[in-house]
Amino acid sequence: MLLTYQYKLNPTDEQATQMENWGELLRRHWNYSLGQRLDALNRSRAQIDRCSIVCEPIGEIPDRVDYYTQAAGLRQTKALFPEYKDIYADCQQQNLMRLDKAWKRWFVPDKNGKRGGRPRFKRRGDICSFTFPRINCAKAGAHLIGNVLRLSRLGEIEVILHRPIPDGFDIKQATLIYKADGWYVSFSLEDGTVPDVLPVGDIKTVVGIDVGLEKFLVTSGGDAVEIPQFYRKSQVRLARQQRKLSRMQKGSNNYQKQANKVARLHLHVHRQRKEFHYQVAHWLCSVYDLIGFENLNIKGLARTRLAKSILDAAWGSFLNILQAVAVKRGKWALEGNARGTSIECSGCGQRVEKTLKDRVHRCPSCGLVIDRDWNSGINILNRVQRTLGLAFSGCGGLEVTLPVKQQFSVVKLEAPATLLVS
Ligand SMILES: [Zn+2]
Repeated sequence: MLLTYQYKLNPTDEQATQMENWGELLRRHWNYSLGQRLDALNRSRAQIDRCSIVCEPIGEIPDRVDYYTQAAGLRQTKALFPEYKDIYADCQQQNLMRLDKAWKRWFVPDKNGKRGGRPRFKRRGDICSFTFPRINCAKAGAHLIGNVLRLSRLGEIEVILHRPIPDGFDIKQATLIYKADGWYVSFSLEDGTVPDVLPVGDIKTVVGIDVGLEKFLVTSGGDAVEIPQFYRKSQVRLARQQRKLSRMQKGSNNYQKQANKVARLHLHVHRQRKEFHYQVAHWLCSVYDLIGFENLNIKGLARTRLAKSILDAAWGSFLNILQAVAVKRGKWALEGNARGTSIECSGCGQRVEKTLKDRVHRCPSCGLVIDRDWNSGINILNRVQRTLGLAFSGCGGLEVTLPVKQQFSVVKLEAPATLLVS
């Protein structure tokens, strides 16, 4: 099982400057290497024995460019630009590997047939992280001893270990990241265990969830979680700070300070949202063994007028977190087909057409009157239960006995007299 734990670092001013400098040098090297790749691509587009209508290579046709040729070129880079000698060599290779990964994602579709976009040239400040691929072994450039991270070329940095690294896990690699409020280190942790599957026969409590605009989610049991709307609440403060920023002279000292203030506000909203997502996911996984959810067309929805509300709720990242939490707690999180869940009657299966405005589901054939999202929740649950045994997406377990901190509000929806749950 793989986990990532992030800790704040407490570097000295010199170390912080040095790390920023590394980021900048790696950014330049990224841009150079990307340019090299794009150039080679452009020049070798037409086959060698024919003419291209669009363009003709001028001069020498370059050799193949890939990770290996670029990594071999690092020696020359260091000879031409001696400042690259100060960067730990593995970090530079990791930088090239990242580029290679982005490049391949652009060319080779994944198993769903999707490809990434063209790798981008990075602007100043865009690369603010670098990776030490090995840690705590003989040849490693990074060692974590107690709460001190000893890094090659950078020296010793204090790590604020606000929670212990879990027992039995090996630290695989360390990534140093710059955020608006300082430097952080992310440890990738791994242990060799294969998570146990909670047997299908042992599933006792099941739930279907429907995410909506009025409520963050509604379960098939009739519980509704309110949307906290973090972004909307901070909007006024954000707007004020951004206005201030726009009046300042770009690039000045005050501008930098104000830009950092705005970035910190965004970071704050992001963290609030993430915390909320984790709380809801842990709450669901502590109460239920199986959670069914629908796959959403978030990109499509975000193009509508409701975009701000939809992006503020960030269901996409919530569903990712939910699946991760389910794996960690040994519960099931299964995706159900979302097509027509709001139209279908959960009581009798009849189609009941409605528009976005109709908030209540009224079935003419069986007389079921129920909240619209609640109805969809029950439908999703039914669909997931039907497919169980055929499709598995989240399973396994690491014993988690943490109490669930619940700071969000759950509303019990009013149960109709004629509620039929099959
Ligand atoms: Zn019905």
